[in-house]
Amino acid sequence: MKDYYEILGVLPDATPDDIKKAFRYLARQTHPDANPDDPAAESRFREIAEAYEVLSDPDKRARYDRGETLEFGDLFANFGSLNDLLGSFFGGGFSDPFVKRSGGGQDLLVESRVTLAEAALGVDKELTFHAPRACSECHGSGAKDGTEPVTCGRCHGQGSVQVARRTMLGTMSVVQTCSQCGGRGEVVESLCPSCGGQRLVEAKRTLTVHIPAGIDSGSRLRLRGEGGEGPGGTRPGDLYVQVAVEPDPRFVRSGFDLRHRLTVGVTEAALGTEVAVPLVEGGTVSLEIPPGTQPGTTVKVPRAGIGRLNSRGRGDLIVEIDVDIPRELSEEEEQLMRKLAELRAENPAASRGRRRRRR
Ligand SMILES: [Zn+2]
Ligand SMILES: [Zn+2]
Repeated sequence: MKDYYEILGVLPDATPDDIKKAFRYLARQTHPDANPDDPAAESRFREIAEAYEVLSDPDKRARYDRGETLEFGDLFANFGSLNDLLGSFFGGGFSDPFVKRSGGGQDLLVESRVTLAEAALGVDKELTFHAPRACSECHGSGAKDGTEPVTCGRCHGQGSVQVARRTMLGTMSVVQTCSQCGGRGEVVESLCPSCGGQRLVEAKRTLTVHIPAGIDSGSRLRLRGEGGEGPGGTRPGDLYVQVAVEPDPRFVRSGFDLRHRLTVGVTEAALGTEVAVPLVEGGTVSLEIPPGTQPGTTVKVPRAGIGRLNSRGRGDLIVEIDVDIPRELSEEEEQLMRKLAELRAENPAASRGRRRRRR
């Protein structure tokens, strides 16, 4: 039997999170989409996918640990393309923000929590996060003060080299990134003592980000060029701000409308009343409940909902009226109800002692 723990490179007591991380890492490396020229990639990926399929499922993992044999369907049908796969791990369809792009800075992902009121009206949020920035000592060159990086001797400054690779079709000449200089075309001989030649240092950054009205949980804003600085003055990465909207127990969001449930007493519904309805931005609005209002009636407060994203105006606040039918009646209340029933020629059940309020 295959050792799925070994295939994923995790210990037998690995947590579900460890397994997910290991799979994510290996999938990115071995997925056939990432290795179009390597015919062996598919079988490698299948093995990794199979190991993940088993170890990520508590039930299958327990059966595997007991030594049972497991059946598999088409694992590719489950996992799909590399983009689908990474998308399922990040919950979005865009390119993986943690991949360091060649020749530029790192894309970063930060979370911003906003209240429902802030999501309704829009807000400027100050975000603090850690981002790579060029070392101030060497200005991102990685070379010690007074020295300069020199042209790489292996690739002669090209950043890439031609190597012979044995493939199924015979020996082929392929272009590879130079391993000596990592594709930069130059190497640093005396390292900057401040960053150790890394060229980038991790620094705290504060940025004010406008969260537009109408945004919903899970939305991502992309701020071009606000991610990590690139080494040696190359293009900075992008900053992705993932928005989480905190729920407000008074409201349920429905598109750009808000729904609020309001309970009135049975006499208030019958005779009419005036109620104070809370507004998401604070304060209240007075609402007239006409006599004879039925349970489930909705009353609209126009333009008191959520701002329409990328547009003008706001949705509505929809107030849903619920009528509180008394569950317990005092003796006097019951007498009045029975009197009312008589006047309205209704036919309520005879009094049963247990329905009276205990005193
Ligand atoms: Zn430095
Ligand atoms: Zn080189």
